[in-house]
Amino acid sequence: MHLHGVTGPLVAALDIGGTKIAGALVDTDGRLVTRSLRPTPPGGDGETVMRAVAEVVGELRAAPQWDAAVAVGIGSAGPVDAVHGTVSPVNVPGWRDFPLAPRVAGAAGGLPVVLAGDGVAMTAAEHWQGAARGYDNALCMVVSTGVGGGLVLGGTLLPGPTGNAGHIGHISVDLDGDACPCGSRGCVERLASGPNIARRAVESGWTPPAGAAPTAAAVAESARAGDPLALASFDRAAQALAAGIAATATLVEIHVAVIGGGVAGAGPVLFDPLREHLARYATLSFAAGVDVVPAKLGTDAGLVGAAAAAAQGLASGAGARRSRGALQRCGTSCRGCRISRTWCAGVLVVAGSGRTASGAGARRSRGALQRCGTSCRGCRISRTWRPRCW
Ligand SMILES: [Zn+2]
Repeated sequence: MHLHGVTGPLVAALDIGGTKIAGALVDTDGRLVTRSLRPTPPGGDGETVMRAVAEVVGELRAAPQWDAAVAVGIGSAGPVDAVHGTVSPVNVPGWRDFPLAPRVAGAAGGLPVVLAGDGVAMTAAEHWQGAARGYDNALCMVVSTGVGGGLVLGGTLLPGPTGNAGHIGHISVDLDGDACPCGSRGCVERLASGPNIARRAVESGWTPPAGAAPTAAAVAESARAGDPLALASFDRAAQALAAGIAATATLVEIHVAVIGGGVAGAGPVLFDPLREHLARYATLSFAAGVDVVPAKLGTDAGLVGAAAAAAQGLASGAGARRSRGALQRCGTSCRGCRISRTWCAGVLVVAGSGRTASGAGARRSRGALQRCGTSCRGCRISRTWRPRCW
């Protein structure tokens, strides 16, 4: 089965959350070539959950296109520790400091593994192919059961030292506000996540439409019908998101805020008050005028983003301990392919451009990376890849 006439390199992508474990082989244009899916074992111990991950990887390995896989990208619910390759997802209790990256590397036959938080992965996807495309400075957010996010600054995904940068859900926008499960108070997530939108509406006396459960989607339905209690709960969530976006714009000068996740599906009920509040909070000239737009990629954003993060070599993984998560020129030519610019991402060494999936370099190499088979003298990492047409 060769969909799309795949001939170039592929990244095996994993999107791991509290509900599902999704996998795919992703090509250099962001297309999903083959897929695998398992439910996340509810309440399972660490090894039970890992078995489901290994089954997903096993299905990908069984695909005829697996031979073209050059790396594994993981987008996981957080917190993640991309320096040590471990994860401790709040909604996967069996995993605390679980060594996910090395375990996946083992299941994947030793391919290099890049681990990122799911917010960072979503950001990579939206910047590559979605609503942040064309922006060099962007905040992308997932507003769902929790509130996560990631940053693109100067045209580059910025995962931070441990892969959690841009986690806007846990900055405080209400100094003496409600206690947050993270230990802080008044976090954006405590005000704007779906469960908290529903909780606040119920506490104010709102009741869901007949036959509906008290969810954020039901609150949105009531708000669209003009229910003042439902509108007030969404307005408060929008206010919290606006304060967080304004703080981000003031700190690092973003030009777009992309909002995805189930709560973003509320549409104008969320986005209209959000833009109004943002205009009141982001007042300085360099922070004002941020575009607020819904995410474009749907449920595949996690997979596409995990592949993008891995291909760009910018998220941290097993090899990040060598490079501290930063793409750096190692300054020597490769003995094998004798190309004079060798860039070290800690896990992948891509001669020529340092990128495999986006940017000017990708258009030249267009899915044509080859393993040249030697280690780099500069960084002494044993896998060196080069674009065939460089
Ligand atoms: Zn918090």
